Amino acid sequence: MLALDLGGTKIAGAVVREDGTITARSQAPTPANEGSAAIITAMAEVIQQLRSACASTPAGVGIGAAGVIDPATAKVVSATGTLAGWAGTDMKAELGSITGLEVRAVNDVHAHALGEARYGAGVGTSQVMLLAIGTGIGGAYLHDGQLVTGFHHVAGHMGHIDSSYASGLECSCGRTGHVEAIAAGPAIHRHYLRLGGDRQVHDTQAVAALAEAGNPKARKALRTGALAAGAAAGSLANVLDPQKLIIAGGMAGAGDMWWEALREGFASSAIDLLRATELEPARLGTDAALLGAASLWWTQD
Ligand SMILES: [Zn+2]
Repeated sequence: MLALDLGGTKIAGAVVREDGTITARSQAPTPANEGSAAIITAMAEVIQQLRSACASTPAGVGIGAAGVIDPATAKVVSATGTLAGWAGTDMKAELGSITGLEVRAVNDVHAHALGEARYGAGVGTSQVMLLAIGTGIGGAYLHDGQLVTGFHHVAGHMGHIDSSYASGLECSCGRTGHVEAIAAGPAIHRHYLRLGGDRQVHDTQAVAALAEAGNPKARKALRTGALAAGAAAGSLANVLDPQKLIIAGGMAGAGDMWWEALREGFASSAIDLLRATELEPARLGTDAALLGAASLWWTQD
C-alpha cells in the first residue's frame, strides 16, 4: 500500500506492507506557500515515484495530512496558515483524479498514533493514548484500536487544555493558560529566557543540555514543562482511562530529567486507580505516521 505524510515542510512517502515493513521511500518539499493545487501536484509526484518502485499496482493511498481532516471524506476541514489555501481541499477528488487511486486520509498526528498503536509501542493494547510533545502538543486516543476523532474531527488537541503551570501565558491558539504554552519545546525555551537565562542559548535542545549539566534556570524551565505535560496527561487519563500512554515528539528525547518530572506530574494528577498506567516512549519516529496512514486500508474495510 502507498502512504504519504504531509507536513508543513516536507511530503514523505512510502510503500508499506501489511506487516509494517517499508519497502520503498520517496519525499519532496511541501510547497507550503503556493496553494492547495501545488500541494496536491507535489503529493501526486511523490506517489508517482513510489509507484515506479512498486512491483504490483496499489489500490490506493493512505494519507496523514496536516490540518483537521474528515476521515470519512478525506476533506481538509480546516488548516492553519502553515499551509496556504489547504483548508477546503478534497484530497479524494483532487488527488484521486490525478493518480487514479482511491484515497483515505486522517490528520497527521492521528496517523502517527495509529502507527504507534498498531506497529510500535501500542502493539497488544486496545485503549491507547498518544501524546506528541514537540513544537506544539497534540495527540490521539484509540478506543478498541480505532481512532476517536470527535464530532468535528478535532479530537486530540491535547495542548489546548488548561494548566495551572501556564497561568497567564499566551498559547498558539490565541487563548491563555493552555499546557502547550509552558510544556511544548519552544515554550520551555521561552520560559528559560523569562527566568533570566542566557539570551545566547537559542533553542530548546540547548536548554535541555544545560539542564543535564546542572544549570538551575534550565533545570527549572525543563522540569516545569515536563511536570505540566505530565499533569495534563494525568488529567486526560482520569477522563479516558487508557491502557497505555505513548509519549512521542521531540521532547520525548529530552533525557531522564524530563521523563522523571513527566512521571511526577502524571502521578500528581492521575487518581489513585490510574497511577500505575504505563507511560512509554514512542518507538517508530516519523515512520509512525506512514505506517498509520497505510493501515487505514487494512482496518477500516
Ligand atoms: Zn491553546
